[in-house]
Amino acid sequence: MKVPLLVIGGGLSGLAAAIRAARFTPDVLLVEKHSRLGGLNSYFYRNKILFETGLHAITNYAEPDNKKAPLNRLLRQLKLPRKELTFCQQLQSEIVFRDCQSLLFSNDFELFRTEINTKFPKAVDHFHRLLQFLHTFDPFLPAPFRSTKKFLAEMIPDPLLIEMMLCPLMYYGSSHEQDMDLSQFAIMFRAIFQEGMFRPRGTMKDFIELIDTHYLNLGGTRRLCCGVKNIIVQQNRAMGVELESGEIIECNHIVSTIGHAETFRLIAGHRVPEEKLPRLGFIESIFHVKEPSPSPLPADRTIIFFNDGHRFSYASPVDFVDFSSGVICFPANFRGLPAKSMREIRSTHLANGSKWQNLAASPAEYTMQKQAAAQLSVQLLENMIGSFWSNIVYVDTFTPVTIERYTSKMGGAIYGSPNKIKDGNIGFSNLFLAGTDQGFLGIIGSMLSGVSIVNQHILPKL
Ligand SMILES: Cc1cc2nc3c(=O)[nH]c(=O)nc-3n(C[C@H](O)[C@H](O)[C@H](O)COP(=O)(O)OP(=O)(O)OC[C@H]3O[C@@H](n4cnc5c(N)ncnc54)[C@H](O)[C@@H]3O)c2cc1C
Repeated sequence: MKVPLLVIGGGLSGLAAAIRAARFTPDVLLVEKHSRLGGLNSYFYRNKILFETGLHAITNYAEPDNKKAPLNRLLRQLKLPRKELTFCQQLQSEIVFRDCQSLLFSNDFELFRTEINTKFPKAVDHFHRLLQFLHTFDPFLPAPFRSTKKFLAEMIPDPLLIEMMLCPLMYYGSSHEQDMDLSQFAIMFRAIFQEGMFRPRGTMKDFIELIDTHYLNLGGTRRLCCGVKNIIVQQNRAMGVELESGEIIECNHIVSTIGHAETFRLIAGHRVPEEKLPRLGFIESIFHVKEPSPSPLPADRTIIFFNDGHRFSYASPVDFVDFSSGVICFPANFRGLPAKSMREIRSTHLANGSKWQNLAASPAEYTMQKQAAAQLSVQLLENMIGSFWSNIVYVDTFTPVTIERYTSKMGGAIYGSPNKIKDGNIGFSNLFLAGTDQGFLGIIGSMLSGVSIVNQHILPKL
């Protein structure tokens, strides 16, 4: 079998890349190792209840008439009619630095601006200068890593405001410990504070089925439970792949979305690139809660990003979990969602990937640590959002081990390697990288990554 384009990985970047290419050549083949599409942002069932794996919120909300907005550009590139999706916007979210300060923000940027004017009056002019800088700065021009912390320290005289702005942007889009690439900061500032967050009215399953059907209607093919074992390379050209089943598929071009090091692991005779910086791991617990009436849980917050004290540490913790900061998500608190009998709460913290990996060999201890982590997370959350422990009917916790098991991401690092290959070029004439390790993170980011790599490297040669 020979195809013009083979896409490795059926996560959101792979699906977007495959759809974009299938608009021009129908014989695209996408192969996915897992039994479901979606990758990090998929779904699973427990007790016949559907759980979304990764979704808190989608960034980059835009109204339909904002033609230049990344969301609308993405939908156009995929030829996906916006009317096929119903977007539910966040109510409002909050950054809470406990015992220090809090800042509300929503999809109306004026709320964030007013909060800063009121709570950081001495920083107002500096914040305005930051906005002016971001307005003219092009984060998509190729540039080496530039420290956001250093840049902001020179621009804004209030360290607390800097830390508070960085907290959500790092949690939702930095693969770097304690800092962020300035281009990534500019992308995430716009995506989260200036454009805002939403979710589809249906589940992630509905969303994935919609884009999968769209891909199939364009003539594309995809195979599930179909892992790539080897990428067959001659000199600097990929000739095809050997699947785990032993089948060989030849191809003219490959887009790999599985990660930089993960791609090199599949190429015999090529060294896996060394990573000098640590990968970041996360732990997430999903609590299903039968709410009493009236409910003590917040009905007007979509996401709370919290931290203890003035200094926000975004690093792999020494212990299994760093409970000093985290994210609380209320998936029901989006405008226009149908009411459900059960309330969901999600909590996310930084986690030490290696410590969890080391435990994986002793299942009983691994389970015990997971349960302990979920319990400690509840205690912490209850101090902020009210009591819910006694109303929990179901808990599911996933660690970096779970992420690695289901997506083959090394170290279970959601944001992949800290070293990004922004142009997708990994040294082969017809094999390119898209997705997490190309550098655009999150749902919209990874989809834009798939589209832009196809536009840049594949379409001109098809
Ligand atoms: C808990 C959690 C919460 C998140 N919350 C949000 C959020 O609220 N908002 C947001 O925007 N983003 C969120 N994200 C991030 C977002 O999900 C990811 O950035 C995005 O989905 C990455 O997509 P990708 O296609 O680049 O990578 P992946 O999703 O990792 O896709 C890669 C795919 O390749 C497959 N694969 C690996 N090896 C092989 C092989 N050898 N052969 C074939 N297939 C292979 C994997 O199984 C996987 O399906 C979250 C992620 C997680 C895990």
